[in-house]
Amino acid sequence: MISIKNIKKIYGRGDNKLAAIDNVSLQIPSGISVAIVGKSGSGKSTLMHVMSGLDSVTAGSISINDKELTEMKAKEIDRFRSEDIGFIFQSFFIEANHSCLDNVMVPLEIARTPKNKRTSKAKQALKAVGLSEKASVNAGNLSGGQKQRLAIARAIVNDPKIIFADEPTGNLDSTTGDMVEKLLFSLNKKLGATLLIVTHDHDLAKKCDIQVRIKDGKITDVADPHKKLKAGK
Ligand code: ADP
Repeated sequence: MISIKNIKKIYGRGDNKLAAIDNVSLQIPSGISVAIVGKSGSGKSTLMHVMSGLDSVTAGSISINDKELTEMKAKEIDRFRSEDIGFIFQSFFIEANHSCLDNVMVPLEIARTPKNKRTSKAKQALKAVGLSEKASVNAGNLSGGQKQRLAIARAIVNDPKIIFADEPTGNLDSTTGDMVEKLLFSLNKKLGATLLIVTHDHDLAKKCDIQVRIKDGKITDVADPHKKLKAGK
């Protein structure tokens, strides 16, 4: 369960003060898929960043499986992120001059996975995204869609409990976008990982279990057609 309570994120000071997140509370049961929608500048990315511990909040509480993120020390947060969380961001940093396999192994090194397990885990993740044959190819030589799948392999290699995806299909043609979409949902089902997707794509948002709409840093609407929020643990 991800439980956020009364969180605020204020940027700037004095007259330049801006509440990017303005008193947001939400409880997300484990294993469901959540779309975060809203206009550009409404606070979606900020919400993802604070929920994943990439950025701190100004006020409020974020608890993930009963661990209070706002009380963790920087080292604990790093560890939590490397072990429990997978990120798929558009600006995802891929080492173009390194092989796909090496790129996917990076999170395993950070999480200090034993060396003898890294290669097999990384190969497994590449297989899951259909990139087995590209293991030894330099990441810079992949197409846009393949890079996005590589980013997904890197995000899932640690079997994360939560996957954050910021516009995962934004820059992709519709065929590749569909493939990435299917992959994300199959991982959500197979791994039982909670999936949080920021998207402008109405169809993608509708495929998620719940849709959370953000405007000016506030939640204005939560659609829960399958009653997942009440049934969750
Ligand atoms: P979205 O992801 O919905 O486009 P963001 O979360 O990126 O929105 O931004 C929400 C608001 O916070 C915007 O007004 C944006 O300009 C502001 N903002 C985001 N990051 C910063 C920052 N590092 N410093 C100051 N303002 C920021």
